[in-house]
Amino acid sequence: MTGIDSLRNVLELERQKGYTDKAVIGGLDKYLHKQAGQIRQSLVLSLNEVKTKELIPQLLNGFDELNIAKSNYGSYGVDERKRWMTNVFGWLNKLEKTTKTNSSQQPVVSSWKAEAEPGQKRREDLDSPITVIKGITPNVANKFAKLNVRTVGDLLYLFPRRYVDYSRRKPISELIEGEEQTIIGMIWQARVATLGNRKGTEAIVGDKTGNIRVVWFNQPYLAKSFRTNARIVISGTVGLFKGHKVFESPEWELLKAKELIHTGRLVPVYPLTQGLYPRQVRKWTKETVDGYIWQLSDFLPSEIKTHCQLLDLPDAITQVHYPDDLTMAERARGRLAFDELFLLQLGVLARKRDWKEGQPGNAFHIDQEVIGRFLQCLPFTLTQAQERVLQEILTDLKQAKAMSRLLQGEVGSGKTVIATLAILIAAANGYQGALMAPTEVLAEQHYTNICGYLSQVGTQEPSPRLRSGQGSEPGEGTIRCYTGFLSRPLTIALLIGSLSSSEKERLHDRIKEGKVDIIVGTHALIQKEVEFKKLGLAVIDEQHRFGVLQRSALRQKGFNPHVLVMTATPIPRTMALTLYGDLDLSVIDELPPGRQVVKTKCLEPQYREKAYTFLHRQVSNGRQAFIICPLIEESEILEAKAATTEYERLSREIFPDLKLGLLHGQMPGNEKEEVMRHFRAGELDILVSTSVVEVGIDVPRASVMMIEGAERFGLSQLHQFRGRVGRDKEQGYCLLIPEKLSPEARERLRLMEKVHDGFALAEKDLEIRGPGEFFGTHQSGLPDLKLAKLTDLHSLELARQEAITLFQSDPNLKKAEHQPLRQQLSRVWAGGAEWS
Ligand code: ADP
Ligand code: MG
Repeated sequence: MTGIDSLRNVLELERQKGYTDKAVIGGLDKYLHKQAGQIRQSLVLSLNEVKTKELIPQLLNGFDELNIAKSNYGSYGVDERKRWMTNVFGWLNKLEKTTKTNSSQQPVVSSWKAEAEPGQKRREDLDSPITVIKGITPNVANKFAKLNVRTVGDLLYLFPRRYVDYSRRKPISELIEGEEQTIIGMIWQARVATLGNRKGTEAIVGDKTGNIRVVWFNQPYLAKSFRTNARIVISGTVGLFKGHKVFESPEWELLKAKELIHTGRLVPVYPLTQGLYPRQVRKWTKETVDGYIWQLSDFLPSEIKTHCQLLDLPDAITQVHYPDDLTMAERARGRLAFDELFLLQLGVLARKRDWKEGQPGNAFHIDQEVIGRFLQCLPFTLTQAQERVLQEILTDLKQAKAMSRLLQGEVGSGKTVIATLAILIAAANGYQGALMAPTEVLAEQHYTNICGYLSQVGTQEPSPRLRSGQGSEPGEGTIRCYTGFLSRPLTIALLIGSLSSSEKERLHDRIKEGKVDIIVGTHALIQKEVEFKKLGLAVIDEQHRFGVLQRSALRQKGFNPHVLVMTATPIPRTMALTLYGDLDLSVIDELPPGRQVVKTKCLEPQYREKAYTFLHRQVSNGRQAFIICPLIEESEILEAKAATTEYERLSREIFPDLKLGLLHGQMPGNEKEEVMRHFRAGELDILVSTSVVEVGIDVPRASVMMIEGAERFGLSQLHQFRGRVGRDKEQGYCLLIPEKLSPEARERLRLMEKVHDGFALAEKDLEIRGPGEFFGTHQSGLPDLKLAKLTDLHSLELARQEAITLFQSDPNLKKAEHQPLRQQLSRVWAGGAEWS
C-alpha cells in the first residue's frame, strides 16, 4: 500500500462519511500533515510508471499546489470541504489515468468502487488469505495459521497482548539508566564487532546533546543497514557498561518519512509463534491496518455507539494496534470488547427466542392434590425460596411450550425435592420423567431419596424383578412400584452403567413400553439403546458436570420435553444469563432453617497433629470424616499416587485403629462407586480422597472435612467440599491445611472462615481465577472472547441491556440498517442458522 493509495482510501472514506472529518482519528489535517512526505515519495515512485514523460512536471506541480502538508480542511464548512475534495480527486484521477498501474494492481481501490452500491463485495478483500499481503509467503501464512490468523480480516483482529511504552523521547544527554526511553539521532558509525565471544553490531549514535553506544548482540547483519549519517530512532532500556551508558539490543527504526512502528511510541506486542518475529508482525499489521481498515464496515448501529460512547470500528482497530496513547488504547479495547459481549448477548437471546418459539411443548395439568399429597409426606415444609421456584416451574409446565430452565441453588438448598415434584407432575399427566446425575452414587442417592418420599404416602407393591434368579430380596433392585399416589401404580427405576446387561435390557424394554414412569440414572440414560415411550420432563442434576451435547441428548429423547437443569455452582446472575442464556433462571437463595454453618478453620501445617486428634474424637462419637489430598493439576496419575501414599501412611501411622477408604480418579468406576457405597453405609470411618469426591453426595453422618493443600483449590470448590459435611443436626467442621501460605493464600482462605454464602464466594473466585475454571466456555458452544472478560459484570450487563433493547425493536434484524450487524453475527456464531 503506497502513500497515494492510502490517501485515496482515506479521502473516499471521508466522502462516504459525509465530509464530517471523521475518516481518521484526530482529523484529516493531522493525517495529511503527517503523511505528506510519504505521499510525495510514493508519488515520485509511481511517476516512473507514467507513460507520457512530459506529464511528470505537471503532476508534481499539481500535487504541490494542493499543499496537503498545510491543509486546513478541519476549518472549512461542508461546501468548502466538498470543493477541496473534488480538487484532490481531480488530481488523483489524473494521476491514475497516466500511470499504468490501474485497477489490476490496486484491488483495494477497485473493490471499493464496487462497494458504491453497498453490498458484499467490500468484505472480499478482508476475506482474502493473508498471502495477499506483501512479504507473507505461504510458509509465513502457515505460522500465522497457528495463531488462527488466515485472512486479512483475521490479521486486523490479531490484537496486541500489550504495549511497550517507547513514547518518552529524550535528548541523549538526559537519558536515565534503567528506564525505557527513546532517542532520535544520527548514526556516526556502525560496524560488526565482537561482543562477548559472539559477533554483533555496534554503533555510535549522536544528537545535539551527546553520543551513546548502541550494541546488538548476535546480529552482525544489522551493521549493513546502518549507513553513516542515517537518522535512526532507538527505543529501549538504557544500561551501564564500564561506567558508560549504552543501549543493549534495543528496538530500532531508521527514520524515514513514514510513521514509526517499532520505536518512539506505544509499540504493540503481538502474540507470536515459532518463526514469527515481532518486527515482521508489526510491519504486516501496520500495512494491513493502513491498507484495509477502510473496508471494515462498522456493524454497530450508531445509536448504540453514541449511547455507550464507543469508538467507530475502524478507529478502534487502528488504535488497538497503534494507539496514539494509552487512553486511546483503552477506548479501542473497550469498543472491541463491547462488540464481543454484544454479539454474544444477541446470539444468546436469539437462541432463547428460537428455542421458545420453535418448540411446542406438552402442557401439563397441575393436579394440586398430587402436590399436596407429596408435600404432606415430607418431614419438613418447603422454604419460601423453594415455594417460589416451584411456582416458577409449575407455571412453565402448564404452557404448551417446552420449559427450559436452570435451577441454581446452594449445596443443600433442597433442589432435589423440587425436581421430584416436577417429575411427579409429569407422571400424573401420563408422561415419563427422567432425572440424570453425573455419577452412579449420586443417581442412587436420588433414587433412594425419591423412593423414600414416595413410600411415605404410597404403598410399595412387590416390584417387577429385573434381576434374574433368586438371591435378590424382593423390593431391592432397580425398579419399584408404588400405589396410592396416582390413580394407577407409579413405577420408578434406576438405570446405571453397573447394571448387568440383561438387567439393562429388560429395563430398556420397560422404558420403551412406557411401563416405567420415573427413571433416575447416569449417562446410561442417554445411550442410544434407551428409548422413552413418552418423555415429558428431563431433569439434569449438577448440570456443569455435563456438556451441552449431553444436555441436548437427553432433551432429544422425547418430543420437546420440558427441561430442568440444576446446579450447585452458583454464578452471578448476569453471567448465568449469558452462559446459559437459552435457559430461564430460577434461584433457591435460602437454606432450610436450622442448617448450621460449617465451622471452618485454616490451620498452619504444624497443627496437623491436632487436627488428626480432632478427627479421631469425632469418629469415636460416631461421626465420619473426609480427608482431601492436594490437587496436582498436571497429572491425575501423580495425584492418585500421592493420595495412595497418604492413605497408606494415615492407615498405618495415624489411624491404625480406624477403617479408612481411598478414592481417586484412577480407580475404575465400579471400584469408586463401591468405596462411596461403603462410606455412605458407615462401614468406613474416614475417606481419603482426591478432589473426585462426589459433588452432591449426602453422607449425613460425616462431620469433618479436612483439606490438605487447601490453597490449591478454588473457593467454590472448597465450598463444595465443605457442603459435604454438617448435613444433619450435628455440627460440621471444615479444616483447611495449606501447604504453603502466601499472604494472598492466607487472605483467600480467611474468606472461607468468614463467608458461608456460596454466591459471594463464587464471585470472589471468579474475580481471582476467571471463569475458565468454572465453566468451559469452549464446551458451551459460545464464541471465543479475546478482549472481553465474562467477569466484567458491568460490561456484561451493559452489552446485555443494549442487546435487549435492539432485540425489542428489531427481533429478527430485518431492518436495512441492521444488515451489517446481522452479517457479523452469523460470522461470529458459527451456528448462525438462527439468523437466516
Ligand atoms: P441440593 O440442593 O444440594 O441438591 P438436596 O435436595 O439434596 O439439596 O437437599 C439437601 C437435604 O436437605 C436433603 O436431605 C433434603 O431432604 C433436605 N431438605 C430439602 N428441603 C428442605 C426443607 N425445606 N427443610 C428442611 N430440609 C430440607
Ligand atoms: Mg443435589
